[in-house]
Amino acid sequence: MNANSVHKTGIIIVGAGFAGTGMAIKLRKSGREDFVVLERAETIGGTWRENHYPGAACDIKSYLYSYSFAPWPEWNYLYGHQEQILEYHQHCIRAYGLEPHIRCSENVQSAEWDETNGEWEVNTTAGNVYRAPVFITGTGPLNKVNFPAIPGRGSFAGPAFHTAQWNHEVDLTGKRVAVIGTGASAIQVVPAIAPEVRNLKVFQRSAPWIIHRGDHPISEKRKARYRKNPFWQKFHRERIYWQNEFTALGFVKFPGIMKIGQKLALRNLKKAIPDPELRRKATPGYRMGCKRVLRSDDYFSALARENVDLITEGIQEILPRGIRTADGQVHEVDVVIYATGFEASENMAPFEMKGREGISLKEIWKNGGESYLGTVIHGFPNAFTVIGPNTGLGHNSMIHIIESQVSFVLSALAQMKQNRWKSVEVKKQVQDAYNQKIQQRLHNTVWETGGCMSWYLNSNGKNTTLWPGFTFEFRRKTKKMKAEEFLTK
Ligand code: NAP
Repeated sequence: MNANSVHKTGIIIVGAGFAGTGMAIKLRKSGREDFVVLERAETIGGTWRENHYPGAACDIKSYLYSYSFAPWPEWNYLYGHQEQILEYHQHCIRAYGLEPHIRCSENVQSAEWDETNGEWEVNTTAGNVYRAPVFITGTGPLNKVNFPAIPGRGSFAGPAFHTAQWNHEVDLTGKRVAVIGTGASAIQVVPAIAPEVRNLKVFQRSAPWIIHRGDHPISEKRKARYRKNPFWQKFHRERIYWQNEFTALGFVKFPGIMKIGQKLALRNLKKAIPDPELRRKATPGYRMGCKRVLRSDDYFSALARENVDLITEGIQEILPRGIRTADGQVHEVDVVIYATGFEASENMAPFEMKGREGISLKEIWKNGGESYLGTVIHGFPNAFTVIGPNTGLGHNSMIHIIESQVSFVLSALAQMKQNRWKSVEVKKQVQDAYNQKIQQRLHNTVWETGGCMSWYLNSNGKNTTLWPGFTFEFRRKTKKMKAEEFLTK
C-alpha cells in the first residue's frame, strides 16, 4: 500500500498478539474476510515478541495458555518458554491463513468515529488511513514499559535497559549487574543470569510471594499420545483450568485459603535459603494474592548464591557508575536492568480514540478505565476492546478471557447483520450499573485489603485491571450480546 492511501475494509483490528489474532482467526472461521490487523511492530507476537529476556516463560501451563480451538501437542515444557510460545503463535497464524490480513509496521496513532458515514477512521504513523464500520483493539495492557522516576536515571554511564527491551548485544559475562525490581519478570531473569555474571545486586522494594512451579520437559511419548488422540490433551487442559479456577476462591471469597498458600511458600523459602537474615528480607510483608502470586523453583536458590546480593534499602539515586541506596551506600555496577514492569492501570487508552461527538477515550478514562464487560464503551459505537478494563486475572489464563470476549464480538456482529443495524453502542446506565457492581465486588478482595500497592490499582487506588470473580462467570456474561442493553441504529 502506498503511503497516505485510504484503505476501506469491514473491520479493523489493532494488535497482532494473542488477542488480535484470536479475534482474526474467529472472524475467518465465521466466514469473514473483510478485515485487516494493524500491528505496530515489524512482526507478530505481542508480549511474547517483546519479552525475550533470559528465562522468559509463561506462568500458566502451556496446554491452557493456548487457544482452545488450536491445541498443539508440540509443547516442550509444561510451562511454555518464550521462543516456543512465539512459535505456537506463528503456527496459528499460518494454520488459519491470517498472513494476507496482517499489516506490520502500522502504528495506530488515532481512531475516530465518523457519525455521518458510520465508520471508524484510523490513522497510522506511516501516514496511512483505514476506514471500517467496526473497530477492535487488542493492544493488551502490558505494552508501555515503566521506568521508575529515580533521580539520576539518565546519568548511568554503562548499558541500562528494561526487561521488555532486552539488549542481547550486552554480554553480561563477568560483569557487575543490578536488577531493579522483584516481580514476575525479575524472578525469571535473576536465576537465568546469576551463573554468568560476576556479581548480581537485586534491588527489592517489596518481596513477592512465590510458590512451587514444577516445570519439566514434556516427554516424546506424551507428545505422541496427544498427537494420536487429542482428547487426552483436551482433558488435561480442562483439569489445569479447573485447578486454577479453584484458586479464585482464595482471591475473592475465602481469603483463608491464601494462608495455606503462604505456609507452602514460606516452607519453600526456608528450604532454599538457609541464611535467616536473607530469608527475612525475602519474606513478603503483605497477604498473598495482593500482588500477582509468582511461580519459581530457582529464584530463592539464585538469591542464596555467593555472587548474588538482595538489597532492600530503598534506591536514592542512580549515579554514572552505580546506585546509591537510602543508607548512603554506593553499589558500583556495570549494567542496570530495569525489571520494573509496565504502566498498566495508568494511560489505559492505547492511543487517541474519539467516539461520538468527538469524546476522547483518554479524557473519559483519565481517572481509570470503565467499560461494559471490558469489551464495549458507551459513546464509542461499533468499537470493541479485547482485554479492556477489569478483565485481567490473578489466577487463570488470559486466553480464556480473550476467547470469551471474541465470542461476544461475534455475537454483536451477527446481530448487526441479521437486524441490519449500522451501529451498536452500550447504554450508559448499563455500563454504569456494571461498573458500580464490579467496584463493590472488588472492595473486600485481597487486592484492595491485602496491604500492598500493585499495578492492579491506579494512582487513585481504584482497581481498573482485574476481573473480580471466576472466569466461567465472565464467559457466561460474554456469551451473547443482549440487544436490550444496547442503543441500535
Ligand atoms: P511487576 O510485576 O509490576 O514488577 C515490577 C517490579 O519493579 C516490582 O518488584 C516493583 O516493586 C519494582 N519497582 C517498580 N518501581 C520501582 C521503583 N521505583 N523502585 C524499586 N522497585 C520498583 O512487573 P513485571 O515483573 O514485568 O511483570 C508485570 C506483569 O507481566 C506481571 O504481573 C504478569 O502479569 C506479567 N508477566 C507474566 C509473566 C508470565 O510468566 N506469564 C512473566 C512476566 C511478566 P513493588 O513490588 O514494590 O511495586
